[in-house]
Amino acid sequence: MTSHVEQAIAARIARVRAEEERKRKQREELAAARAAGVGRRHAQKLYRQAHAQSQTPEDPMPAALRSIHCPACRCERVARLVATVVVSRNPHNVMHCTADDCGLQWLVRAERPRTAPVAA
Ligand SMILES: [Zn+2]
Repeated sequence: MTSHVEQAIAARIARVRAEEERKRKQREELAAARAAGVGRRHAQKLYRQAHAQSQTPEDPMPAALRSIHCPACRCERVARLVATVVVSRNPHNVMHCTADDCGLQWLVRAERPRTAPVAA
């Protein structure tokens, strides 16, 4: 014979256990989804890196777009890399401002490939 208080306590313990079980399942589902997403993003990142490394400075991607300060617009604009030229032995990128009312083309000194750190 259990008292009303003991029944209430047992019911409350059962509710707490059910809630803990529900939260544990939710954490497992979220962890699985996160692991799948991380794996997918990692694969995309590796693909992009492999694709980017195949582009040489002499053969830039024709449709390369980048956000850069346009000297005519005097603000950050999306510019297209249209060519790479060498001026007095220094490589320069020819940038074309994609703003409708601008269209400026100008040279930006190309970034040199970073030298790998020397192994100690
Ligand atoms: Zn511009």
